[in-house]
Amino acid sequence: MRIILLGPPGAGKGTQARILTEKYGIPQIAAGDLFRENIKNKTALGQQVEEILKAGTLVPDAITIKMISERLDQPDCKNGFILDGFPRNVAQAEALEEMLKKKGIKLDAAVQMTVDDDDLVERISGRFTCGDCGEGYHDKFKPPHDPDTCDKCGAKDHFTRRPDDNEETVRTRLDTYHKQTKPILPFYEERGLLKTVDGMAPLKNVTAEILALFPSKKTPNQGIQAKKNG
Ligand code: AMP
Repeated sequence: MRIILLGPPGAGKGTQARILTEKYGIPQIAAGDLFRENIKNKTALGQQVEEILKAGTLVPDAITIKMISERLDQPDCKNGFILDGFPRNVAQAEALEEMLKKKGIKLDAAVQMTVDDDDLVERISGRFTCGDCGEGYHDKFKPPHDPDTCDKCGAKDHFTRRPDDNEETVRTRLDTYHKQTKPILPFYEERGLLKTVDGMAPLKNVTAEILALFPSKKTPNQGIQAKKNG
């Protein structure tokens, strides 16, 4: 399965990508995560993009496209991938089309997650993650059972918040989405690849809606079950 998840910041792309990753055994490629990793490791790329992420505007296309192209060449992408946060403008969508053509790969779909803008600021400014296992939480919608401990891995006092999840930067990121990213929706519609799911629905329903778009794609576990039954 080779898909793109599209939607404004806070739509739940990362959460759904992580669920699909586990189900299909294919990697999530999140441009934002790759940038944050570089910033954390103080690489040359990290230093180049740190201020841009803080401001909530887009990293120049040449840098982003090169990073994604190199990531797609990694062996773990051979059987598929979930692109999360890339492409984010028409130039990136065109570059992706070109690079996939060169690599002899076809996209299955670009899945748009729709959400109400008004809810996004609240959704984003309340979110935090476990620094150990990456499990996502929210002050209001999904607090951990014990405020200092990760429900999933038990790590204590390891919760982290993204520096760009503050209200001011969130508004810039939303503005960037509307002005630069939304115009790529017709790009994928023209190619018959655009699918839409309701990102406001409960998390499980969103996952079910996405999975229903790909009825013929078996998850690794389903494959094993089918073999046992057959
Ligand atoms: P995200 O984690 O997807 O919310 O992205 C965090 C930040 O990384 C964005 O606000 C941008 O500054 C940068 N970024 C992520 N993806 C891209 C992209 N495709 N093109 C340019 N900048 C990006």
